[in-house]
Amino acid sequence: MSSSAVCDETDVQEVPYPYALELDPRACRLEMKWPDLQAAVPYKVLRQSCRCSVCESVRRALDDVPPVDAGVTLLKIELLGSMGVQLFFSDGHERGIYPWTYLRRIADGRAAEGVDDFPQALMKGWKDE
Ligand SMILES: [Zn+2]
Repeated sequence: MSSSAVCDETDVQEVPYPYALELDPRACRLEMKWPDLQAAVPYKVLRQSCRCSVCESVRRALDDVPPVDAGVTLLKIELLGSMGVQLFFSDGHERGIYPWTYLRRIADGRAAEGVDDFPQALMKGWKDE
């Protein structure tokens, strides 16, 4: 029996939960807040970042972020506890699970790259895996 069977709180703290997630329907952005970072990510970017098997195969086939409707909106966020969130989009796409670490990476890219270069930052994130 391993001694790590006891709850290890250092592991738990590594999960970068945002303390706030807010839909901003007027600006079509999702606001995410961590103690050290705030980012407002457009719904369209989140939709393009979907990691479900369908979007993944499109991404691989095009070698680019999947094309999505510019007017796509985020209808609902479902919290999946320690796993992350599931996002429901207005184009009927609702299969994507966004792990907390992935959301944080999207937000980091957003903060670092600015609006125009953001899809490139996303691609970089994908290709690093
Ligand atoms: Zn998808």
